[in-house]
Amino acid sequence: MNDLAPDADDAALDDDDTTSADDAARKPRGAFPKVDHPETPAEQRQRYEEWLIADGRRNPELTAVLAQPSRNPANTHLSLRLTIRARCYQCENGGSDHGYKERIAACAVQRCALWSVRPYKAPGEQPVLLMRREDVAYGDYHGQALASPGMRRPAINGYCHDCQGGKRMANVMRAVHDCSTADCALWLARPLQKEPKAKAADGAAPEAADEGVSAPI
Ligand code: SF4
Ligand code: SF4
Repeated sequence: MNDLAPDADDAALDDDDTTSADDAARKPRGAFPKVDHPETPAEQRQRYEEWLIADGRRNPELTAVLAQPSRNPANTHLSLRLTIRARCYQCENGGSDHGYKERIAACAVQRCALWSVRPYKAPGEQPVLLMRREDVAYGDYHGQALASPGMRRPAINGYCHDCQGGKRMANVMRAVHDCSTADCALWLARPLQKEPKAKAADGAAPEAADEGVSAPI
C-alpha cells in the first residue's frame, strides 16, 4: 500500500489542445494563445505546458522557460511537472504524430521511475508501489522512486539514476551530475547539479555526495 494520492492534476487528458504542427510553425515565438473562457492558473499552466511541448520549437523554449521562470506568466516557478511531461513526450516520440498522449497514457513500463507521475494517466489509475522503502538500498535512487509512487522529485532522481546505469554502476550520481545531454527534458531538473562532495580520503561512503541531492526546481 502507499499513502500517496494519485497525481490528480495530471489525470485528465487535455482534449481541447488543438495545436497542430502547422499552427505551431506559424506561431511567432511567445504567442501563447488566449482562450475566450475563464481558466484557473493551474488550467492555464497546464494548457501552456501542452502548447510549449507540442510546439515545434519546444526545446529552446522549454529550456528558456526552465532557466528563466519569470519569462511567462503561466509559469511563476519552475515546474517538475513540465519536465516530466516533456520527457514522456520525448520518450514516446511525441514529435512524430498526434498520438503521443494516448501512448503515454497507455505506457505499461511500471518500472520506469516516471511511470506513476506521467501525464495523461486515466483518472482512476492508482500509483503502484513496486518496492518498500525499507528494502531500498542506500543510494538507490531508482528504488526510492519505485518506493515513492506519485512523487515527482524522487521520480526524476530515479529516472536519471537509471539512465546512467543504475545501482550496478559506481559513482552513478557523478555521471548524472556530469550529464551533457542538454536536450533531454530532464536535464535542467536532474539531481545533484551542484558539485558532489569530495570522496573521503579513506574511500568510505563513495556515494555520500548523493545525500545532498539538490532540488534545483
Ligand atoms: S513513464 Fe517512462 S517509459 Fe512511460 S512514457 Fe514516460 S518516460 Fe516513457
Ligand atoms: S538529464 Fe541526463 S541523466 Fe537525466 S535522464 Fe536526461 S540524459 Fe539521463
